[in-house]
Amino acid sequence: MDTSDSINLTPEQLEVGLINDTIDQSALNKLLTNNIHENENIDALVQFFQHYIPGNRTMNEFIERIRHYNSAQICGLVWNANVIAYRCKTCSISPCMSICAQCFQNGNHEGHNFNMFKSQAGGACDCGDASVMHAFGFCCFHGENRPKTQMVPRELICCAELFVPYLLKVFIRALRMSAISGDIVTDEKLLEILNQLSNGGSAIQMYITHALTDKKLYEEFITDPSMVKLYQYEYLTAETAALPVTYFVDSLINDSTAHSLIPFDTSIRTMLDEIMMWCVTAGLPEALIRFLLSLLPDFNFKLLFTETFLRFYGVIAQSLIGESLAETSEIPSRLVHISVQLFSSNIIAEYAMEKCHLIEVILSCIWHMFVPSVDHDKPDDDDDDENILKTHPLALTNDANTGMVVDVEHRLIVKNVYWPLLSDFVNILSQEKIAFTILENKRYLILWLRFLTLFQGMNVNERVLTQHVEYEPQAYMYAFTIELEISAAAMWCFVGHLKPNYSSEKLICIIKQIIDSINDWLRSLSFDSKLMDDWKLTFHLPLHRYLSVFTYNAIHQFNIDPSSFLPVNDQNTLLNLMFCPLRTICGYYEVLSSIWLRNGEQVTVQAKTYAKSAFSSSMHDADLFLLQLISCYVEPNLFIETFLKRFHVYSWLFHSKTASNLDSSQQISMLESALIALCAIIGFQPNLAVREAKHIRSEIVTTLAVADRLYSEVEENVPDPSPLSANRRDIEVILQQVSDFQTPSVELMGHLQQGKYTIKDTLFKTEYDPLHVLMRCTKRSQFQNSLERFTNYVKREGLFKSDYSIWPPFRIPSYDHQQMSNVQNSLRSGVLHHFLFLCLHAYLNDKSITENILYFTIYLLELSIINGDNRSPMAVDENSEDIAAFKTNNIFTNICTRVFISFNPLKNEQETESIITLLLKILHKQRSNDFFDLITNICPQKATNPKDTSRIGDRFHFITNIFSLSSQMNEQCRTTITQEIEKFKTQFHQQQPTTTKSADLTAEQKRQRAKNRQLKLLAEIAESQKKFISQQNSDENVMKAGASPSLFNEHFSSEQAASTGGAASSMSIHTQNLIEYECCICRLTKTDSHSPIGLIGTSCLSLLPSLEFAHLDEHEQKILSYSSNKMSLETYLSITKQNLTLISGHPYIANYCQNDHHLRSLLIQSCGHSIHVDCLSSYLKALHPNQEAAEVSINNLLPSNTNFRCPLCRQTANALIPLFDVNDYLNIEDNKQNLSLIERLHQAMMNPSRPKLKRSSDDSCLLAFLSGLAAKCALTEQLSPNIPILIPNHQSMKQRAAEFDCGTLRAQLVHEQLFYESANRIDQKNVRKSFYKILHELHHLGYPFYHQHLWQELTGLQCPSTMTDVFDPHQPLAPVLLRDSITMLLQLLMSAPINITSDEFDTIVQIVFNIEVFKNLITLVVERPQEKRDLKDLNSYLDLTKKYIQDIFINDQIMNRNPIDGPIETYLMNNSLEFLKITALIKYRLYSKEMPWITGEPTSSLVLAKFLNLKLDLNGLAIPKWFCNEPGALVTHWLQEFQRAAQHHRSAMKILCIRRPHFYSPVFIDLPPKYDDIFHMHNEYHCEYCKKASSNTLLCLICGELHLKRWHSLCCTYQRQRYNQHLSKCGHPAAVMLDVQTTLITICLSDTYAYWHSLYLDQHGEEDPKLKRGKTLYLNTNRLGVLRTLWLTATFDYQIQNWLSYNSLMLSHFDVLL
Ligand SMILES: [Zn+2]
Ligand SMILES: [Zn+2]
Ligand SMILES: [Zn+2]
Ligand SMILES: [Zn+2]
Ligand SMILES: [Zn+2]
Ligand SMILES: [Zn+2]
Ligand SMILES: [Zn+2]
Repeated sequence: MDTSDSINLTPEQLEVGLINDTIDQSALNKLLTNNIHENENIDALVQFFQHYIPGNRTMNEFIERIRHYNSAQICGLVWNANVIAYRCKTCSISPCMSICAQCFQNGNHEGHNFNMFKSQAGGACDCGDASVMHAFGFCCFHGENRPKTQMVPRELICCAELFVPYLLKVFIRALRMSAISGDIVTDEKLLEILNQLSNGGSAIQMYITHALTDKKLYEEFITDPSMVKLYQYEYLTAETAALPVTYFVDSLINDSTAHSLIPFDTSIRTMLDEIMMWCVTAGLPEALIRFLLSLLPDFNFKLLFTETFLRFYGVIAQSLIGESLAETSEIPSRLVHISVQLFSSNIIAEYAMEKCHLIEVILSCIWHMFVPSVDHDKPDDDDDDENILKTHPLALTNDANTGMVVDVEHRLIVKNVYWPLLSDFVNILSQEKIAFTILENKRYLILWLRFLTLFQGMNVNERVLTQHVEYEPQAYMYAFTIELEISAAAMWCFVGHLKPNYSSEKLICIIKQIIDSINDWLRSLSFDSKLMDDWKLTFHLPLHRYLSVFTYNAIHQFNIDPSSFLPVNDQNTLLNLMFCPLRTICGYYEVLSSIWLRNGEQVTVQAKTYAKSAFSSSMHDADLFLLQLISCYVEPNLFIETFLKRFHVYSWLFHSKTASNLDSSQQISMLESALIALCAIIGFQPNLAVREAKHIRSEIVTTLAVADRLYSEVEENVPDPSPLSANRRDIEVILQQVSDFQTPSVELMGHLQQGKYTIKDTLFKTEYDPLHVLMRCTKRSQFQNSLERFTNYVKREGLFKSDYSIWPPFRIPSYDHQQMSNVQNSLRSGVLHHFLFLCLHAYLNDKSITENILYFTIYLLELSIINGDNRSPMAVDENSEDIAAFKTNNIFTNICTRVFISFNPLKNEQETESIITLLLKILHKQRSNDFFDLITNICPQKATNPKDTSRIGDRFHFITNIFSLSSQMNEQCRTTITQEIEKFKTQFHQQQPTTTKSADLTAEQKRQRAKNRQLKLLAEIAESQKKFISQQNSDENVMKAGASPSLFNEHFSSEQAASTGGAASSMSIHTQNLIEYECCICRLTKTDSHSPIGLIGTSCLSLLPSLEFAHLDEHEQKILSYSSNKMSLETYLSITKQNLTLISGHPYIANYCQNDHHLRSLLIQSCGHSIHVDCLSSYLKALHPNQEAAEVSINNLLPSNTNFRCPLCRQTANALIPLFDVNDYLNIEDNKQNLSLIERLHQAMMNPSRPKLKRSSDDSCLLAFLSGLAAKCALTEQLSPNIPILIPNHQSMKQRAAEFDCGTLRAQLVHEQLFYESANRIDQKNVRKSFYKILHELHHLGYPFYHQHLWQELTGLQCPSTMTDVFDPHQPLAPVLLRDSITMLLQLLMSAPINITSDEFDTIVQIVFNIEVFKNLITLVVERPQEKRDLKDLNSYLDLTKKYIQDIFINDQIMNRNPIDGPIETYLMNNSLEFLKITALIKYRLYSKEMPWITGEPTSSLVLAKFLNLKLDLNGLAIPKWFCNEPGALVTHWLQEFQRAAQHHRSAMKILCIRRPHFYSPVFIDLPPKYDDIFHMHNEYHCEYCKKASSNTLLCLICGELHLKRWHSLCCTYQRQRYNQHLSKCGHPAAVMLDVQTTLITICLSDTYAYWHSLYLDQHGEEDPKLKRGKTLYLNTNRLGVLRTLWLTATFDYQIQNWLSYNSLMLSHFDVLL
């Protein structure tokens, strides 16, 4: 033998051998034996398979190539929990359908009802599976029409084909081993290869699935004696023997002669079986499940997998119970992860039902979970494992046959262990065929009903009377979950399948079966209605609700007569049947009436859940319908009597011997409840139909009648019981009909309203149903809301005029089905009439009984009359005990009958009343003055249809309606009414002959009038308040700062406070009109106190101006030698500064020539409230009792990092801005000499002075303020890339201070400019408050220099230099024509006297502007030497400029630009726009009342020039104006200076004299119109440092970087650093970040953060925080605009109240201390 034979075959050799069939078998065998069978080293195995399976290529290449041959029809992508997937109701067939993001994007769901969701248990993509979703929802790569693929080339696959079965065998061996060793790792590496292969798509998957399901292969595998040992076969046999045995429930076994119990078949016949077994015993490991599920797109495999899965289902169910002892368990969700993939498909589900005992399997497992089988059980040695079933607390006896009920506090229920099984059950019920099989097969139906019986009456509450319960049990939640998610969910599935062609007989059979089950249950309790405990209450009656809902459908859909299933002639059985629902409804009202108060909050939550709109169809409405149905067949008096007894009002009203134990307010509350419930039984149509437009409409109208609603609120309030329905379209269509949409509104100062739906007014007249509202509201205030809105509508439309309250317009009922009109039978009851009589009597005599009780009574009376039977009065049942007040059931007789009330000993006669006399008295009581006029014509002769009477009216309207109705319908009534009125008149006149005349108004009328007056007054106040505020808001008005807002205490919000103070600054010192600032703490004004006063302010670092960008053209790029076409202002200024330094010789001097400090300066703001220094000091002391802060604050005003809140408006603050006025100054000079403007100015410049402050406290205040700001500025200075080097000059510190002063002022102006260019006009008027004037004066007072030299340079006027100037006059500076105009302007303004007039200001502006003109001319000459146009007045200057400048750059070709389009005047003026804007803004703030420019329109430089009174030529071009005698010499001097510099620094000059590019104000990054795009792009962040992926991401809207939330646990410290570094870049004044997971905007500061709203709204204008609804969200540009303005102006405090600390300590925590 050749030695090479002993060396292994290479993959290449193998591949060739396999293709050509020339393989050397022995070599192959050797390969297999050495490397597979006898190799137990996992790593070696892994290496081997990875080397050989791909053949002659790497694994990655192999997978990539084989994927091209993927021909799977179904996507089948498997995902784990917490992955985002999509669900489309329009496309789905099964409610569980879901698709992956990829398939969603590749499909077309335009206009569909889809949502994005976070997968709870994991899932798989259904795209391409026609049994789960409609083909039109498939993406282009899946389904029948997917692109066709070719055959896989043999050489590619042949090695994989050979080795896959071996890989599986080795994998199984690893499973066997790891099961014994408990070491999972061994099989994981092999599983990785399997998963990798499965990823290769169908072309490779088929070899895996074949091997897994090949019985012969497996047979050989386990019988080959050489393999048995190598593969540890004994481990398998040991494990299978130990598998727990599970059985089918006895009653499910068809053939009783067969062996009575079929155990689940867990025999193992394939590799799949064995893997499944290990999978089950290992607790369904996630990776293994993923692998198995990834193979499901292979349909045949799916069938076989389902079969195997169901055989092991019982074992899994048992392991669930075992797992429930563990703290947490993943098994339930993994089980569902599998089963959902199988049972959602109707083909698989039906196959499983027919071939694999699907129903028996699931029902048996469910049953055994709650009822452990006794006979076949292993001995139960688990002591603390109490039985889940307990004896029923409602049972009257306790013996062996007594019924059992689940204990909702049991571990299995608390831990939701049953959930996966029941979820599977409900899931398969969505398949019609399965649902019908269960309903029609008695064995199944009875078992299901027996199962429900275990929950019938669970969680019984017992009323606590003595003291409040200490511990409130939470178990009730589980009871509701079970009933709603299991019992009800299954019920709606069943009912949903009942189509009109379903057999009536079958349906009757089902209903009879349900009734039998209820009766069995009652029997098991030894039920006796007379012995039941009144104070036990359960909200859970699943069997009754099945009866109710099935019956409802039988009647409404199938027209089945209830007598065909109800024992209509057996009164006792009927009463027993209705006992429980009646008790529950009554208990519900007891809870609302505070009768169960001592049981704690939890019982209230139960009651509210019971009646909650979303669940009402499954609970409250179902109970009510059953009552209605039974009331049709019970004798009316018996029904009413039973009803009233249950409501505890019977004994009280009818003076029965048995006393109730309720106090009187509870009694009255129950009386009202009884009336409401009676009205509901007779007049309300419960909503048990599966999605009928009519019902949806009435639900929507009801919910909108209470309040304006968000779309999601509407959806939530419309009951949608059936899991199968797709109701969104219905709701949308109906909403359009019944409501108006209010688009989301945005206000800078107010709230951001989301889109809301408002009911159409007229529906109050036609459709508003107060009874329906009552049924849906668990809070009475909601009903009152709807009534108020109704009343407003009536008043507004003038539909009914009355001084008295309008009554709710209870509707005359109309019935969905003829059968149900029988509920009106109960109205023909003498007992009812007597009850109503007693209610009226009680109302008249008991003041604590409210009008509510009256209107319910009158409504029932009205209904009784409308239903009155005129012809055949019925006799009262003689057996009724002592209630024989009315001898008949005839309403007409009864309302006339006088009944004994009491014995009047004075008159020695019996006092009697009838309903008629009581009504008359009630009317008279309210309106004694006009009563007799009103009732004269109360009984009309003409008969009108009772349904035509208007439903809008007050008490008088509805009571007289009773009179007119009854007299129309019954002659005897008419006579009696007329007689009683006459009698009443005479009696009344005898008794009180005078009172009517003297007292014009009854007490009630007076009350009503007074109330109306009060309302009117309130409205007037509100109106004037609104007017007042709108006046105060406007920028121009003068207002006392800090004025007490006491008039509006209630509604006074921070916004209003802010705007009230807003205009303080527009006051000028020059006008003698001084503002009296009032301290917001002591309420003393400025002049009243010695302590200095100041505005409460904030100063924050602002980097905003540095975020301005310009787009450079090629020309500019070349000259600036800058490689990008986008340049920040900061960069530009730093380039120009460098060149200035070059020219002037020192950065210090360059700084003087161009101060760009404003780029990184402070933004100073104030809420407008003022406070004394002393008051602030004591306020801070109170705020931080343990700190020295307060002490420090007296000297330094405020310690550097003190944050506090304005005591008045609660906005945050950290500064005090001192307020001074003329009275605080010494030596203010007023040059009233007869000098010209320029002479006056020149005098002032030559002899400069600034006022001193009279008081030293004021002085230190000013110093503290300015040095405080400078200290903060110095902080930013460190951020600045080029700190100017200080020269040892005694002036340098002062120079820095001067820079800070001008920089701060300029920063304020830039922010104001940003605001005016960003905010909309309304917000501008309302919001912007400027303190510029105050700041300007403060800085002016503290400015350290006079710029005499500059004055001389600019004006040409000789000015002797003094030591107060910055520089030595011989210090060479940069040419004046190269300096920054605004810098020079501010320097001159600071040098000028503090009280310069507007004229003087204009002059200074003109002086600086002269420079601006020449700078422009230079630019023109340099950049466009070809340009030849007539510039009129400027021609001579242009020539002069050319003379000095042209030569310098004459040969420089890059300087040549294209000629200017349009008038050259415009070009020149626009070059000065930046200067004009800032200057105009200063003038506006210091002198004017008019804004110089209008937002939204391009700013006109001409308008600004006029505003500034610049000298204009005839063409509207602003031109120089001279103030010296020889302007020519001055200009020549400037130009020569320029020329000199240019000769030395040619390239630097080039840069300095090109036109300044146009810089755009800061913007956010571009946001996509749909949120999905943001989400998919940014919802995950991979840390570049620790490689972890996190999803708590924040997207910076300023720079576009992605960060992690600092307030969540970050992956590593590196991220924390990165976050903080980012804040120093984008966080001034605040970083605006988008929280990707929640959609909310987050405002991040260095130590705090806060949430703002969402920029993205759904189609209904609604936010979707946390993406819970998952609807498509669209960018709302209005909100974006507001956000940008808030950012640009750093005014987030307008809208954000709660700032959170990163250290999770809330800032507002401090407020609690205040
Ligand atoms: Zn997919
Ligand atoms: Zn797809
Ligand atoms: Zn769709
Ligand atoms: Zn004060
Ligand atoms: Zn304030
Ligand atoms: Zn990290
Ligand atoms: Zn950023």
